[in-house]
Amino acid sequence: MIEIAAYALHEANGPLTPFRLQRRDPGVNDIVVDILYCGICHSDLLSAHDGLKRSIFPMVPGHEIVGRVARVGSGVSKHRVGELVGIGCIIDSCRTCAPCREHDEHYCVERFTSSFNGRERGTGNPTYGGYSQTYVIDENYAVKIPAGLDPAAAAPLLCGGITTYRPLRRFFDSRDGNGRGLRVGVIGLGGLGHLAIKFAKAFGADPVMLTSSPNKVGDAQKLGAVDVILTSDAAQMTKAMGSLDFILDTVSAPHDPNAYMSLLKRGATMCLVGMPEQPLVVQPMSLVWGDKALSGSLIGGIQATQDMLNFCAEHGIAADIEMIAIQDVNDAWARMERNDVKYRFVIDMATLKG
Ligand code: NAP
Ligand code: ZN
Repeated sequence: MIEIAAYALHEANGPLTPFRLQRRDPGVNDIVVDILYCGICHSDLLSAHDGLKRSIFPMVPGHEIVGRVARVGSGVSKHRVGELVGIGCIIDSCRTCAPCREHDEHYCVERFTSSFNGRERGTGNPTYGGYSQTYVIDENYAVKIPAGLDPAAAAPLLCGGITTYRPLRRFFDSRDGNGRGLRVGVIGLGGLGHLAIKFAKAFGADPVMLTSSPNKVGDAQKLGAVDVILTSDAAQMTKAMGSLDFILDTVSAPHDPNAYMSLLKRGATMCLVGMPEQPLVVQPMSLVWGDKALSGSLIGGIQATQDMLNFCAEHGIAADIEMIAIQDVNDAWARMERNDVKYRFVIDMATLKG
């Protein structure tokens, strides 16, 4: 076994404190990854609150992991010692069901194994995430960080990036593969939202930012939004009615989706990626009036994650980050709860000693 240092919380909503854990010795197909950086996603907080009622404690969060391969098993062919790799939410799946065969491992019928707050296939042991020094993972579930991407700013791409890239890519693929002439709304300028604006722009679309925060208007423009709508301003919302070809909703808190759906053009879709802990109330007329659709999307498969990283390297896309030491992680979580992050915290794992 490999004993390492980590940060864990021991009960729902408890503080993160130093913790020691053991990783398995690498099997034939495993790689051992020394973790360099780990992003802080709002879903870490969702699990810490036990928002999905299946949290396992002690919990070591973290699923936006970038590290360097330190050792490889004898059967490993995809990765080499010294290479930079990424680990996202998925570390295993059944590999035989239709979604797995179609590279949608995140929809594995047996449920994918989550990189944290999950249970390993076979042993049933809890999985511990990236707020730790080392990860041991099957080589097929790690992706390569392309040359040219800053490894720290790439970490949030492993969840925030793929979660926004996948539904946007699917939308643009349904419209000639690019976004030219399409107005794409993004609700919520946070970790996911700021990446969504960058992706929509890189696909050639006209991104429209919908934010509840007046102090983010200037940033949204700098990120590439052609228009910024302050959602608390009724006049701005009314003016934008029926103007958007697609909306990606990244909001983490309870909100009224009906006001946003009125901004869609006839026949258009609003896709949820945000996961508020309470139900959203949808008025039938919001869908019925104008052939509108409400959809959802969960992260993305391993191959799509690699495609997204390659796309980011090609288009110079990475997250805007605030780097923190692991000792400041509780403060960072509290700031994220208060909507006070521009736009992703990344933990420098070199600060985790012992
Ligand atoms: P984040 O950085 O905290 O951003 C969330 C944004 O939501 C905020 O920046 C804010 O944008 C907006 N917001 C917050 N409170 C609000 C309120 N009361 N009313 C309206 N808007 C509010 O979070 P994140 O990491 O981007 O994650 C966003 C959501 O996606 C979370 O629910 C997370 O769990 C979920 N998620 C889902 C997946 C998936 O696979 N589907 C993957 C990762 C994360 P403004 O200030 O601009 O309004
Ligand atoms: Zn996440």
